[in-house]
Amino acid sequence: MPHDTPLIATIVAGLGLAFVFGALANRFRIPPLVGYLVAGVLVGPNTPGFVADAGLANELAEIGVILLMFGVGLHFSLKDLLSVRAIAVPGAIVQIGFATALGAGLAWMLGWSMGAGLVFGLALSVASTVVLLRALQERRMIETERGRIAVGWLIVEDLAMVLALVLLPALAGVLGGQEQADAHASGLLSLPASYGIWGVVGVTLAKVAAFVIVMLVVGRRVIPWILHYVAHTGSRELFRLAVLAIALGVAFGAAKLFGVSLALGAFFAGMIMSESELSHRAAEESLPLRDAFSVLFFVSVGMLFDPFSLLSNGLPILATLAIIIIGKSLAAFVIVIAFGYPLATALVISASLAQIGEFSFILAELGVGLKLLPEQGRDLILAGAILSIVLNPLMFLVIDWMKPWLEARAARKAPAMEAKPIGPATEPGQVVSVAAAAKGGDGPPPRTELTNHAILIGYGRVGNLVGAALKKAALPFLVIEDADKTLAKLKADGIETVSGNAANAEVFAAANPEGARRLILAIPNAFEAGQIVLRARAANPGINVIARAHSDAEVEHLKGLGADTVIMGEREIARGIVEEVLGSEVEQTSGY
Ligand code: AMP
Repeated sequence: MPHDTPLIATIVAGLGLAFVFGALANRFRIPPLVGYLVAGVLVGPNTPGFVADAGLANELAEIGVILLMFGVGLHFSLKDLLSVRAIAVPGAIVQIGFATALGAGLAWMLGWSMGAGLVFGLALSVASTVVLLRALQERRMIETERGRIAVGWLIVEDLAMVLALVLLPALAGVLGGQEQADAHASGLLSLPASYGIWGVVGVTLAKVAAFVIVMLVVGRRVIPWILHYVAHTGSRELFRLAVLAIALGVAFGAAKLFGVSLALGAFFAGMIMSESELSHRAAEESLPLRDAFSVLFFVSVGMLFDPFSLLSNGLPILATLAIIIIGKSLAAFVIVIAFGYPLATALVISASLAQIGEFSFILAELGVGLKLLPEQGRDLILAGAILSIVLNPLMFLVIDWMKPWLEARAARKAPAMEAKPIGPATEPGQVVSVAAAAKGGDGPPPRTELTNHAILIGYGRVGNLVGAALKKAALPFLVIEDADKTLAKLKADGIETVSGNAANAEVFAAANPEGARRLILAIPNAFEAGQIVLRARAANPGINVIARAHSDAEVEHLKGLGADTVIMGEREIARGIVEEVLGSEVEQTSGY
């Protein structure tokens, strides 16, 4: 190599191996994130061979966190956030308290100091943003009520950790560690230890509040203005750049100037952008980068992991894991149920929070640095994080499996339950979330009863017009659609739906392609459409397939895979324009 390029090496090795092992994991029907973690272990210092730069990998992963939280913010309004505070605030606080107590208990059994117990417990109490958001996104739950509660809960945890990170150095002396005035330098406005505990808490909260106010007052005006300005330049490149610069800039500024976490800063940047009509475009602009960087998050976690520590620390690791996935879940479950939410909500929240990640590592590092936490504590936290992340998809399977059983028990115990209006569960937002619950984030979607029907895929600009025509002609059909908002509209219109990505085998099978007469592909992505055509032909050689395309190459591609008719959008638009022009010429000439 001509010169040293650790950043490039880290990105290439990280993304390359993550891709290989992610694909492999997928092949064996294991969640791809397990593959990403394995890739991380391989490029990490604990296995022989190439070693990537852990510090760089970590920072790259932070970018992933920023973009993820930014994306979530784009789907949130301040109103959404405030609407879940009644459950998210007490829920997160009680759960943090409970998990911290359990962690401190384990620390006590291991003979550690009280300070060690506190740090250890706190580290076990915060869930990972990346793991939670990806789990919710995969199940299309972010925009349901359950998703909003989980995200709100996460934000409260995030705030609590911001506090913990500034408080620990100030308290280290009292807790039996090493007092360090500037151990956590939170940027320009870092706090001298002489403020005292309440002073530190006060100043930290004041800084968070100042950030929120600045965003609501200044950001709210400036950010949409920038976006509109850039949109008018007509340069797509500049628009993408603007979105990225705002997301990263606000997050970084929040962290450096206000001592708020990067994730929280990005969330606010997204939330402010969501108030402008351009937000959807903005969200899409940041998608590919977001996915790539969040993969690097898992790689960087894998890098920290020493597989041999599993052998020497067996029992304590099991206990740590039990606190994370059983202790925390139980606490969350009980709280959510106590607030009168439905069982399904409680289960989803428990499962999504039953893991730990980036914040726990930061806390562990800080604890070790302050001589509060023994090195063994950090190893336990790391092992607990890896294992709980790997097991997290399993948790969702477990709740799918437990739900019917718990429901049956609940029904037996309290048959009159349903009639009782139960607090927050009867808010208007609930209608949507019931629809969302029925649409099967959990388990395969139920199979349709229709036969001799048309399967319409996509209900956007094209699909909704086709659907309206089919309905008018009283032809039997159903729609496969994967956008929550569109699904809600379809339900309201009383049109049968299968929810999910039609390229997914289970989802597609639920539409009964064997018994269908016609398949209408009204989605813009020709790659996905091609996969679906193949699948449909395999299931039903006689089915009539009509597809949508946007270029001649796509027409070829889809016909090659077996579509009977392919309508090229741009050609039809041109036809409409030509008709309009020539028609008006005719009118004008005949008018004279
Ligand atoms: P439009 O381009 O406006 O016609 O919108 C396309 C619609 O198809 C959107 O509502 C998407 O949510 C939906 N869609 C796109 N891809 C898929 C897919 N693979 N499965 C199900 N729905 C899809």
